[in-house]
Amino acid sequence: MTHMNFAPLSRYRGRFAPTPSGPLHFGSLVAALGSYLDARAVGGEWRVRIEDIDPPRCPRGAADTILRQLEAFGLEWDGEVLWQHPRGGAYEDALERLKALGLAYPCSCSRKQWREYAIYPGWCRSGAGNASAPCAWRLRSDRGEHPARFDDRLLGTLAFDPTLLGDVVLKRKDALFAYQLAVVVDDAEQGMTDVVRGVDLLDNTPWQRQLQQALGYPRPSYLHLPLIVADNGQKLSKQNLAPRLADNDRGIRRQLFDALTALDQAPPAELARGTPREQLAWGTAHWSTARLATAPTRPAPQEA
Ligand code: GLU
Repeated sequence: MTHMNFAPLSRYRGRFAPTPSGPLHFGSLVAALGSYLDARAVGGEWRVRIEDIDPPRCPRGAADTILRQLEAFGLEWDGEVLWQHPRGGAYEDALERLKALGLAYPCSCSRKQWREYAIYPGWCRSGAGNASAPCAWRLRSDRGEHPARFDDRLLGTLAFDPTLLGDVVLKRKDALFAYQLAVVVDDAEQGMTDVVRGVDLLDNTPWQRQLQQALGYPRPSYLHLPLIVADNGQKLSKQNLAPRLADNDRGIRRQLFDALTALDQAPPAELARGTPREQLAWGTAHWSTARLATAPTRPAPQEA
């Protein structure tokens, strides 16, 4: 009998990647839970990455609070947490490659100069208007796949014209790297096979797809989850002071149950009294993206 060696199929690896601008709220719990269940349901890995590339926006201690909150909700991650703040060298290398490919250019324009336009009109594409001024680095959105297409597991095949979204900033004038570049470099270097996150990030995906293509990175699969909105229809966010997640046992059980409900998983009523471990075990065993309705928003539960 001959024995054949099969290359292992690439194992699912997903992540929750919060920006530590404040503690997690109910909306972030739904994103964390959705990515966790999607990974665990197929025996995959689930990682946490702290996206702290913008220190002025990240109060001291917020990242640790987030990690403690994930633990309190039973959302245990695999491996070490990846922190973005010490990874400037990796982002700089990627930017250098984009520059060499003619896909990134320095831009001295201020927001004020182009305030009458919906997107940055690309004036510095042929050379920075004021090369001695501090410059940001922007992506040539016109030099890539048009339209940019990707499949979302919930929303189907989506096509965007990246030029209508504009030449996104990759590195800011204050020398901080921008989310778009950091997220793409880290997803690739960490071997992420699946990106599961809120639908508020959907219109960032075309730039990320363009960057993946330019840098020769593999394409992860995408699932954009519904967003939790407050009574006024606005997304729950740290900026509009969404309350932080519960930190007492009763509240944690309730909010985990509410998050399973917000993800359309229809948990049985008695599960609301279950421990986080019991609720996550049920959620993992029953996780079904087919149950997710395509409606882009869900109301926040009353107590959240
Ligand atoms: N750091 C981003 C946020 O907190 C999420 C990044 C992502 O999932 O791609 O909104």
